[in-house]
Amino acid sequence: MILDGKVVATARKEELKKALQDFPRQLHLAVVLVGNHPASRSYVASKERACHEVGIDSQVIQLDEAITTQELKEVILSLNTDPKVDGILVQLPLPEHIQEQEILETIDPFKDVDCFHPYNVGRLFLGQPIVQPCTPKGVMEMLTYYGIEVAGKRAVVVGRSNIVGKPMAALLLQANATVSLCHSRTKDVAEEVRRADIVVAAVGKPKMITKEMIKSGAVVIDVGINRIEDSTTEKGYRIVGDVDFEGVREVASAITPVPGGVGLMTVAELLWNTYTLAKYRL
Ligand code: NDP
Repeated sequence: MILDGKVVATARKEELKKALQDFPRQLHLAVVLVGNHPASRSYVASKERACHEVGIDSQVIQLDEAITTQELKEVILSLNTDPKVDGILVQLPLPEHIQEQEILETIDPFKDVDCFHPYNVGRLFLGQPIVQPCTPKGVMEMLTYYGIEVAGKRAVVVGRSNIVGKPMAALLLQANATVSLCHSRTKDVAEEVRRADIVVAAVGKPKMITKEMIKSGAVVIDVGINRIEDSTTEKGYRIVGDVDFEGVREVASAITPVPGGVGLMTVAELLWNTYTLAKYRL
């Protein structure tokens, strides 16, 4: 079975549109973009489009690459106190000279739509989240949509970043899976993955997860987004995941494609987080 991100993301957005009809005021998301990174610009554009689709106002604050940490903090502080702003998102990565953690900690935790502030991360790991990070939440929503049981299953997450791997493990644990988290120092990743009923790959290495690593009937979720050169395409590259889709689909019971999988869910859950925080603050 193919777990179709487009189908699930559309359903989530429709559900949100209905919820927004009963909300007493217009929601507003502020997206802060520093510099001109092409991939970041394209992610920001897709977030704006998605806001528009469900009826959330969005505002992109484009800042010069040379901005200092202090100046960027001041921009965020003014968004924190702006009553019309419900959600603040700082598009990562930031230029190297900026103190990223300091910036993320400046965002009001109750406007922190990415769930990167230590307050929200702490609540997540205590099992008392207000919001959940968009990509892992999107994965959980996909599993729910397709009726895939998580409780009691052995789940292996490959990658331990703060954005994907660690919160993914926390959400699977909360859903009562038995969770292992692999990383670059794991002795035998293949051996760990082979034991999994549910595999989540979030590494950033094209086609790293192969058919030979997957137990027959496992559910495979591919979070990876990798650009590989391909002279046969107009752009000269194409996007592939961390999973060798064609090989793995022969043994997996369910698998997400790339593109068309988790990436679409991330944006849908960002919209939901904007709503959830606005409701919480109200
Ligand atoms: P990071 O680079 O922050 O983290 C990668 C993780 O993979 C690290 O924990 C690293 O281990 C681990 N790793 C690296 N090499 C290996 C290896 N050989 N074996 C096992 N583990 C390894 O990446 P992100 O988590 O930010 O992103 C991961 C992927 O997901 C990327 O392709 C990214 O583009 C994509 N992504 C997709 C999103 C979506 O919406 N679909 C959203 C966010 C990211 P260590 O900690 O030891 O260095």
